[in-house]
Amino acid sequence: MPEIVHTFEDVEALVRENYESPDLVSLRHAFDLANNAHEGEVRATGHPFITHPLATAHRLAQMRMPLNVVIAGLLHDVVEDCGIEIEQIQKEFGADVAGLVDAVTKLKKIKYTGEERYAENLRKMFLAMASDVRVVFIKFADRLHNLQTLYAQPAHKQERVAREVMEIYAPIAGRLGMGEIKGELEDMAFSYLDPKSYERIKRIMEAKLREKGASISHVISATENLLSGSKLKDFEVNGRVKRYFSLYRKLQRYNDDLTKIYDVIAVRIIVADVEECYATLGILHQKWRPLAGRIKDYIAQPKPNGYQSLHTSVFTDDGDIVEFQIRTREMHELSEFGVAAHWRYKETGMRPVENLHWMEELATIQKTLADKKDFLSELESLKIDVFKDRIFVFTPKGDVIDLPDGATSIDFAYAIHTHIGNTCTGAKVNDRVINLDTNLNSGDIIEILTDKNRKGPNPDWLKFAKTRHAREKIKDATRHTMKSWLASVIRPGKKVEKPKEA
Ligand code: MN
Repeated sequence: MPEIVHTFEDVEALVRENYESPDLVSLRHAFDLANNAHEGEVRATGHPFITHPLATAHRLAQMRMPLNVVIAGLLHDVVEDCGIEIEQIQKEFGADVAGLVDAVTKLKKIKYTGEERYAENLRKMFLAMASDVRVVFIKFADRLHNLQTLYAQPAHKQERVAREVMEIYAPIAGRLGMGEIKGELEDMAFSYLDPKSYERIKRIMEAKLREKGASISHVISATENLLSGSKLKDFEVNGRVKRYFSLYRKLQRYNDDLTKIYDVIAVRIIVADVEECYATLGILHQKWRPLAGRIKDYIAQPKPNGYQSLHTSVFTDDGDIVEFQIRTREMHELSEFGVAAHWRYKETGMRPVENLHWMEELATIQKTLADKKDFLSELESLKIDVFKDRIFVFTPKGDVIDLPDGATSIDFAYAIHTHIGNTCTGAKVNDRVINLDTNLNSGDIIEILTDKNRKGPNPDWLKFAKTRHAREKIKDATRHTMKSWLASVIRPGKKVEKPKEA
């Protein structure tokens, strides 16, 4: 991958273009400080070290992150490497920039050293993120440039960095809904971890583009004509090529049968609102016959990561099958930038969007809106602010589960699996047995104790189960097992309170 070397002037020009009345004095000042601090340092590529913070800042400005994040990107390597004190940064750039630089510096101390450290790394990443997710954006920009210049490193370091990206960074990007960055991270790491497969996929893609490129651009212009003749005012039609790693994994799922994969090259349509999404789908289907069973409504039913779009595959005029993906501008921003879209909107003065993570819940709620009696309590449990009111806890194996603030082991148990919840008898937090109604904290490691003979959940758990998911599962299970539950708890000589009707 060719490395593009950015100058400060490039970064400045990009900031002028993407930001409204940016503080260019501070930006220049940050560059001067970093440039002096890294004076004489050379990277493995042979470029002066300053090219690295410049690339990081450039990327953050491209993502339209708040200017403080761009400034922190310029400064992200000065504290540990150059003996600059965090107090100096605080004095010259304020507490916000200093806080970001400090957090990135702390994260640098974490080195991925293999399987046994995996959980711990992931935990620290998540905890840092929970306190300020902007820190993670800087780490992504930092890591993307390290990957671009990884060719200059010795093989063992390439392997370590690439594996770390594949096992820690890319999944976190995915969890944050940052599809574009996740794809970039994965493709670059893929090229180092499995160069043979990478080359094979690359050849497949090149052949596909040669074969289909012309007919796809024909379909795109035909679509543009079609939509121009409709009532739609504001639309955009693009070709989108599947990422290498994503194609690689899909091919594995389809036994390497490329003919079964219709979205290697797809056509993406961006329209103004949800109504127009469905209108567009109708217009396409009037012109081209849809393939049975290939219409997917991820608007009414978003994917678990919050992804929303309408997908359909149609037979085009020359008998080809082409997949269309139809979405609004907001859905598009969310699928590409995820939680970062929240900041992008802020920066551009557009209205802020709710976090994708709760879009799934939103869809479920919309469906249950029909019977309005629970609506207010449903709204209560719907948290929309990014990471605020969320905690991150861990399974003993190091998997991260995120839960609302105030969640208990019962919520955790049901987040793992309904069966775990239903057979839960107790919980250990950080190796200590706790009461089931104890609130969990970020960073806790939770082990659920189960008994396979347990007949089902205790309806009293509803008093402290916080998530909608757990509450629903408890209600479901108690509805059917009220009798057997009673039977299991009634002991001779003990008065049993009748469980409340769920
Ligand atoms: Mn760096």
